[in-house]
Amino acid sequence: MAKYIPKNEFGLPKSSLPPLGLMGLFNYLKSYYNEIELIDRNVNPTSIEKLIKDADHIYIGGMIAQEKGFLEDAKIVKNAGKLLIAGGTIISEDSPLTELADHLVENEAEMVIDDLLEGIYYGNAEKYYKGMLTHPEKFFQPDYSSINLKNYQSMSVQITRGCPFNCEFCDITARFGKKQRIAPTEHTENAFKQMYNLGWRGSVFIVDDNFIGNPKEAIELLKNLHRIDNEIGYSFPKYSEVSVNLSDDTPTMQELRKWFRKAYFIDNFFGVETNNTEALQETGKNQNLRGKKTIIEKLKLITEETGTSMMMGIIHGFDSDTSDAVEKLIEFINKTHIPTVMVGLLQALPKTELWNRMKKEGRIIENSTGNNTDGTMNFIPYNISEKEAEQNYVKILERIYHESAFFERVKRALRLINPEFKNGSTPMSLKEKLYSASRILTKDNSSTYWKYLKDAHKIARERFGFFSKGYWFIISEYLTYCARYTHMKTQMQIIKEQIKTRIYEQWQLYSWKDYKILQINDTTLN
Ligand code: SF4
Repeated sequence: MAKYIPKNEFGLPKSSLPPLGLMGLFNYLKSYYNEIELIDRNVNPTSIEKLIKDADHIYIGGMIAQEKGFLEDAKIVKNAGKLLIAGGTIISEDSPLTELADHLVENEAEMVIDDLLEGIYYGNAEKYYKGMLTHPEKFFQPDYSSINLKNYQSMSVQITRGCPFNCEFCDITARFGKKQRIAPTEHTENAFKQMYNLGWRGSVFIVDDNFIGNPKEAIELLKNLHRIDNEIGYSFPKYSEVSVNLSDDTPTMQELRKWFRKAYFIDNFFGVETNNTEALQETGKNQNLRGKKTIIEKLKLITEETGTSMMMGIIHGFDSDTSDAVEKLIEFINKTHIPTVMVGLLQALPKTELWNRMKKEGRIIENSTGNNTDGTMNFIPYNISEKEAEQNYVKILERIYHESAFFERVKRALRLINPEFKNGSTPMSLKEKLYSASRILTKDNSSTYWKYLKDAHKIARERFGFFSKGYWFIISEYLTYCARYTHMKTQMQIIKEQIKTRIYEQWQLYSWKDYKILQINDTTLN
């Protein structure tokens, strides 16, 4: 078990979430091995050579964005003569890992793991296993004792897999299906009870692709989470990923919004993507366009009725995006009550409809980095060049994370958020809170944070009365936003530096429209 507890600048654990998939695999494998250990490279600074010294079999898993580190580790493992088994969303038949790993598992592993283990035992395992959609009864169940919980800012649980929607850029439906599969109630119950018994009192991220993919079932899931909290005698603060149709004006959605509050969800992430109607239609995100309300009205309604804080994802680089539309996008973001906005440039991920369309049109230039916030695109955008898209990206970040714009959104959020204040929900001890607050208010941007603290205090006092539970909730939310602001500003600086020094290739200087007009042929693109 990893004992290292690195801290970030606010005295909090450095890693936000534990490796949930590997914790499930660990739980399954432990009955097959005499000795087994789970290593999270995000929190364990020991060299890979030392980590694998006494191991015979190494299982590695991860995502596309981690490919570089993966390949380096895989080479070391193979040079040390160990058996290497690789899995996770990083795996595809044309992945460079194919040359290094002894065995690879693409997609969900549960339905092929027994064949793989038997093959390894008898020495006749296949090179490549293609997993398939798993029956929920067989979902791996994570063992939370396989990690040191103190290394993480939040725990995670998966209850459902899959999403019924058709967003062109998203690989969820290709990987996990359009019909949502729901884990048996006991799986969820076991996870929360084990976390509680291991002493966890912090927040829990429900990592589902879209928690409300099946709205009627989602109501039952929320009721179940509420029941589990009651049985344990502790309400875990929760958050998840949710589609904007939560704002729909239907009895089911009204009921759903009510249960988010009861089940103590304090935050949710929404794929808003853009305010550009044409772009939403182009990418198949029609669920954001339903009804008569504007997107801003929909987002406001969600917070009013669920009480939760919100985060949103924004994407630039759709075919119908232009540089002129950027001003409208910035204005839109700055009119919301959502301080935490994850902006990314559109990337065509493998297995998506977007990848297929770009491939067919001859616009793909390279594989996706798997990280849409690194300020790069892997295909030629339609109305703008890749270089312009990058410059627009920096402009959006600078304007939405400008001090006055950000803290206006914070003030709007603080006036709206209002979860059920649960007894006993104290994710951090008072000592930890005070320590963290003192770090936030004395380090980077501290004069800004003190300046707006007066506003937060005023809002908290007016809404809930001095030193009440609600008052402290608002102040602690304010400090959380400050910490996120520091993080976002740092990230923005890194991206700006990278973009400033980038040397552009020819394909990055023209839009696809230009290419068509100039009739530049494919061979000149690379
Ligand atoms: S709603 Fe979210 S998870 Fe579902 S397809 Fe769209 S982007 Fe993917």
